[in-house]
Amino acid sequence: MSRQLIAGNWKMNGRLAEARALADSLAAAPVARGDTVEIAVCPPFTAIHPVAERLGGDRAVALGGQDCHAAPGGAHTGDISAAMLADLGCRYVILGHSERRQEHGETSADVAGKAGAALDAGLVPIICVGETQAERDAGRALEVLHAQLEASLPEAGAAGIVLAYEPVWAIGTGRAATPDDIRSAHGALRADLAARLGNGGRSVRILYGGSVKPDNAAGILGLDDVDGALVGGASLDSESFLAIARAAAG
Ligand code: PEP
Repeated sequence: MSRQLIAGNWKMNGRLAEARALADSLAAAPVARGDTVEIAVCPPFTAIHPVAERLGGDRAVALGGQDCHAAPGGAHTGDISAAMLADLGCRYVILGHSERRQEHGETSADVAGKAGAALDAGLVPIICVGETQAERDAGRALEVLHAQLEASLPEAGAAGIVLAYEPVWAIGTGRAATPDDIRSAHGALRADLAARLGNGGRSVRILYGGSVKPDNAAGILGLDDVDGALVGGASLDSESFLAIARAAAG
């Protein structure tokens, strides 16, 4: 299994001055230069190039987008292709985040198309899946995760992706999933990956996302089948984000 991945999802935050300042403090951090954890940031589209410039050519912090279109180009006003993200130096692209599923009506089939485009452009899609509170209360969490995963995978399958388990009720609420919830969800997703890829499904990293903070990071990142974190709010503060990365580095 490769290094743990700590990916920051800046969402629609980070005007240029803020984005540059955040990039500067991350680039200077020793943990970002170590080899025990991989750090990535996913700024809004407008800040990707300025952040890339600040991170420098030998960048220790990888870059990602927060979405891409399924088509390689053409008449899609306001959209960004996977190849455009690759041009900017991105390695990752977050796909199927619950905010996009909810606010933009993205379906798992849409996510699968985008993931295929990302792989074609040489990007690693970070595919997000997660149940709502109502689905969890109805005892359907694992069933929902299984269905979302199966329908969100690109035609090529699960090879080359990163998966993120992001319970919708834990995102931005300050209420992270419990270790038992995480163990059960990641174990089920790992079993799905193993059935597809063999080798225990270990070739795909499974991140946990949902209210990861410096004070709960070590407990979450130390769980079996947790290979990193997708971090929203805490990724906007360099000290918090780096503390989470240090927890992953052990
Ligand atoms: C996210 O939006 O991917 C996320 C995990 O947000 P937060 O860390 O703020 O819960």
